[in-house]
Amino acid sequence: MKGLKRTQVERLEKLLQAQRRASLEEAEAELKLVHEQSVADVAGEVADTGDESVAMLLTDLNNTMAQRHVDEIRAIDSALAHIRSDEFGYCADCGGDIPFERLKAFPTATRCTACQTKREHTFAHASTPRL
Ligand SMILES: [Zn+2]
Repeated sequence: MKGLKRTQVERLEKLLQAQRRASLEEAEAELKLVHEQSVADVAGEVADTGDESVAMLLTDLNNTMAQRHVDEIRAIDSALAHIRSDEFGYCADCGGDIPFERLKAFPTATRCTACQTKREHTFAHASTPRL
């Protein structure tokens, strides 16, 4: 299993799970502040369907701040889904190892620093990706 040790993967997994909880809480708190009425209305309809519905709810409300958290949560879910696979920890662009230090700072990173920098430069003026 490549460059990452099992203990490192487990540490990243814990980080991701903590981040996911924090992102959900922040997104919900922001939505309550900004859209108290509409959240109450919509939340009533999807009360016990879980996190995925919360994410969909946030998307529907199209709140920019909450949207950022939805993107985060999706990235976290994707990382959690792959963290125990052989794909995790490799750069999506060049295939090189993503250093553990970088993953610790950005557990959702899918590219090495060099490729991410290049990409941000290339797509600096691209619009927000559609969900
Ligand atoms: Zn790379």
